[in-house]
Formats: sequence, structure tokens, C-alpha cells
Amino acid sequence: MLTLPTYDDVCAAAGRLQGYAHKTPVMTSRTINCETGAELFFKCENLQRMGAFKFRGAFNALSKFDERQRQAGVVTFSSGNHAQAIALSASLLGIPATIIMPSDAPTAKMAATKGYGGKVVIYDRYTEDREQIGRALAEKHGLTLIPPYDHPDVISGQGTAAKELFEEVGELDALFVPLGGGGLLSGSALSTRALSPRCDIYGVEPEAGNDGQQSFRSGAIVNIETPKTIADGAQTQHLGAYTFEIIKRDVKDILTASDAQLVECMRFFAERMKLIVEPTGCLGAAAARAMKDSLKGKRVGVILSGGNVDISRLCALLAQ
Ligand SMILES: *Cc1c(COP(=O)(O)O)cnc(C)c1O
Repeated sequence: MLTLPTYDDVCAAAGRLQGYAHKTPVMTSRTINCETGAELFFKCENLQRMGAFKFRGAFNALSKFDERQRQAGVVTFSSGNHAQAIALSASLLGIPATIIMPSDAPTAKMAATKGYGGKVVIYDRYTEDREQIGRALAEKHGLTLIPPYDHPDVISGQGTAAKELFEEVGELDALFVPLGGGGLLSGSALSTRALSPRCDIYGVEPEAGNDGQQSFRSGAIVNIETPKTIADGAQTQHLGAYTFEIIKRDVKDILTASDAQLVECMRFFAERMKLIVEPTGCLGAAAARAMKDSLKGKRVGVILSGGNVDISRLCALLAQ
């Protein structure tokens, strides 16, 4: 039996993050309220440190290290926002960080990770298993492995974003959350159950990779091939053991959004709200817009999970 994190753990995480994470703004738009007939509240984690909510979970997990773990260091595998979140958190806490990245990871992301002081270990994503490399390094050097989503301290850290949202705007009727491996969604669920118990929680995945939807509807974790989508933060192949238990218990449904819908949302945020949101960060907003007929008159929260997209890529996507 897994011991699942609780809202008390989210509160403890919020205490650890105090003075380190930004309390990100909640923004509204009359244009989108008119379009949907609902009142939407956007929690802007694209404006979080390093550009995504992942700082919350990573910093919380590393803050709990004991002296031995701090000395030896942390290891993780990721090519995206979790890598940068671990590297930044580790440098703030004076902990050595090793990040395992695929050889074809974008040079900008590799440079950002190194810039935060992380040691990058390259692997071949077609012939090598990153989790195996991580475990081997952890064992050999006594490093602590912090995975991107399936860890109680990561989940409780991610839950602090929704906690701040409810504390700022009060109870909501629905909350839309981007979904990859489920750290953000399950953490958000812990805060929602405590602060807005009647709120319906929706996880939103890329249409091309709906493993979470399949898992939710079948009751068992479904594994898929790495999906082809512009939502690179949600190209996960399966939910986690912890995240799935919480999602099964607390979430109303799992929805999907197409790449075209994501681009439409990126355009809306850039043009109308002056916000740069990465494709994955638009998942919740895209699903809320698509569901507007059943949201009329409701108060709806949407987590904009990140803003890390190269400007040239943003422009290319909008030009299509
Ligand atoms: C990682 C990530 C997600 C998905 O989060 P999970 O905890 O894996 O579900 C969503 N949006 C962005 C911007 C991310 O970096």
C-alpha cells in the first residue's frame, strides 16, 4: 500500500517554498469570459521561476534532504522543465545535481540546465534506458533520485499552485489542469479537496497521447508509445503509481486537446493577455474553451503550467 500525500503535506511544502517560489498572479480576461459565458481565472505558472510550476515540486523535494543526501547530491532524468527545476533548486540549496538528458535534447534546454549549475549526463534515447542509468548512478554515488512526477514530495510541492489560486479567488465550480505524468493534477486535487470540495477537477492531455484518459476509464495504468505532439511537457508514456491513485479518487474526468487547439490558445494568450504560454501550458485552457456550453455562469480555474517555448518556435507555430 502506498502512503499518499495529503493536504497537510501541501501546506508544509508551501512553508518551504516561502521566499523561494513566486506567488504567481491570477489573471482574467473579459474577452474569454464573453466567449465562454463563464468567469475564468488563470493561474500564471508560466511566470513562475524557471518558467513553470515544476520549481515547486523540485524545491520541496530537495528541501527535505538530510545532511547525507545534501552532500551526495540529486540525480534526475528529464529533457524539459523538471531538469531545469532540479538544477535551479539544487543550486539555491547548495546541492550537487546530475541531470540525465537525451543526446538530441534542444541545445537551449541543455544550456539552461548547465547554466543553473547542473552536471549533464547524455544518453541515447533510442538504445538506452534513462531510468536504469539514473538508478545505476544513484547506487554508485549515493545520489538521491527525484523523478519528475511520481514522488510524494513532488506532488505536494505542485499542489501549492492550486492552493494559492483558491486562497486568492475563493471556491470554484471547475478546475482545468494540464496532465503529463500527473504530479500537477494530483497535487492540485489535494488542494481542491481541502479548499473547494465541490469543485470538479479535470486533467487535460494532448489528444495524441491520451494514456491518462485510457487509464482513468479502464481503472489500470495504460502505457503508450511517446506521443507525437507539440505539447512536449506532456509526452509522458504513463501515469505514476502515486499520481494515479489520487487521480482515480479525486478527479472528475480526463479530457484531451488537439495541437491545433493549443496553437489557437497560444495565439489568444499572446495577443489578448500579453502572456507567453508554452503548448503544454495551454492544455487546460483549450479544454475549458471547448467545454464552454456546460460552463455557462460558472467560476472556472485554469492552470497555465509553463511558458518555456523558444520565441522562434512560438512564431513558427502561430504562422502555420
Ligand atoms: C511537466 C509539465 C506538465 C505536466 O506535469 P505532470 O506533473 O507531469 O502531469 C504540464 N505543463 C508543463 C509546462 C510541464 O512542464
